[in-house]
Amino acid sequence: MHPQLAADLAALPDLLETTRRQAVAHLDGLAGAPVVPARPAPEPAPLPERGTGLRDALRDFTARWQPGLSASAGPRYLGFVTGGVTPAALAGDWLTATADQNSMSSLDATGQHLEAETVRWLRTLFGLSDAHDGTLVSGATMSNTVGLAIAREWLGERRGVSPAQDGAAALGPVRVLSGAAHSSVAKALSVLGLGRSALVTVPTLPDREAVDPAALERALQEADGPCVIVANAGTVNTVDFDDLPALAALRDRYGCWLHVDAAFGAFAALSPDHAHLVDGLDLADSLCIDLHKWLNVPYDSAVQFTRRRDLQARVFQNAAAYLGPLGDSPDLVHLTPENSRRLRALSTWFTLRAYGREGHREIVERCADGARALGETVAALDGLRLLAPVRLNVVCFTLADSPTADRLAALADAVAGEVFLTPTVYAGLPALRAAFSNWRTSAEDVRRIAAALAEAVRALPAR
Ligand SMILES: *Cc1c(COP(=O)(O)O)cnc(C)c1O
Repeated sequence: MHPQLAADLAALPDLLETTRRQAVAHLDGLAGAPVVPARPAPEPAPLPERGTGLRDALRDFTARWQPGLSASAGPRYLGFVTGGVTPAALAGDWLTATADQNSMSSLDATGQHLEAETVRWLRTLFGLSDAHDGTLVSGATMSNTVGLAIAREWLGERRGVSPAQDGAAALGPVRVLSGAAHSSVAKALSVLGLGRSALVTVPTLPDREAVDPAALERALQEADGPCVIVANAGTVNTVDFDDLPALAALRDRYGCWLHVDAAFGAFAALSPDHAHLVDGLDLADSLCIDLHKWLNVPYDSAVQFTRRRDLQARVFQNAAAYLGPLGDSPDLVHLTPENSRRLRALSTWFTLRAYGREGHREIVERCADGARALGETVAALDGLRLLAPVRLNVVCFTLADSPTADRLAALADAVAGEVFLTPTVYAGLPALRAAFSNWRTSAEDVRRIAAALAEAVRALPAR
């Protein structure tokens, strides 16, 4: 063994203790640190020819890189849709790397079974029937990609071909209909060989991001043959929800595939006041839910559910002599884009085991309360304008006067030490979004954010 490796192995307990102290210091600093530090990237360093061990690596990281990291695990990082990491999820993630399992196959111990238990818990959490099988993937983009890959194979079944076997060209033209699809859907269509232009944007209801079911029905009538419908349960701008039972009825009438992107919107199911937003979630043929957002497990984790595991295995099977036959319940290696995979389920297993449905419901409800309170502040401030009702966990707003992209960027910059907001365009207007999904965000944080916004709006130069 290289002497430096041997030295680190001999000192492992002590080195891990030092790492633990550093992690705790990072977490303790989260609430006070600048949310997104303004700091250029360090000068690039050359590859070390001779390493000097973990202790030096820690020192170097702490000096050069750590100060530039955002407080995205903290309570006032409201950009994109960003979760933190619950204590149990963090412990689960440490142990994931510690055990370093490759849980893709039943030839190797119980990793797969732990994922199966976790997926069953998730199914219960979101109120899904056991007609849905689930697998863990690296994020909602991958979950949408897997769901649409299954949809592609289903289209093939309808047309008497197998795109998995014969290529996407065997399918002929494909239409994927959606009201306000997330950008990752177009990316998935690109990856799957269906093409970004397969995505047809269907008109939404007036002043909404939810698809107009009547317009969708017209599009289905015009389409020549079976289509894929991508329903949205929680759009990123205004967290709008398609009418899932209505879309499922259209799916049945016109013989389509219904994929539901519920990346973070699915968490409405945990809150009795919001659960109606995701009525009909179980009707999906394939379903995408992110875990590294509102479940507050570390990156990168999401779940993909489907009613057609047989088609999933047709797409993702990885036939090799040493992996054994597919059988009725295929190993994970036959179900997702990866072959080797970390024991990704463990952090989710830990947080669900530690806090249960009630603990995670409390996180969802506290985030929704925070969004509602900030929405009320924005609506009451003279200089700001709320662009949509706060349905769940996002506040989408703009400036009341001259809402140019530059002025909104200046506003976001002015509050950047206190809160991280991301820009968007909604209804043709440049806007900002504040998305609540971190388990730490408190009512006091919301007051701080509201005060920072009020102050920044007052101080913003008139155009
Ligand atoms: C975040 C998000 C995605 C993409 O998720 P990643 O985890 O970033 O891959 C897809 N759809 C919706 C609705 C999202 O909010």
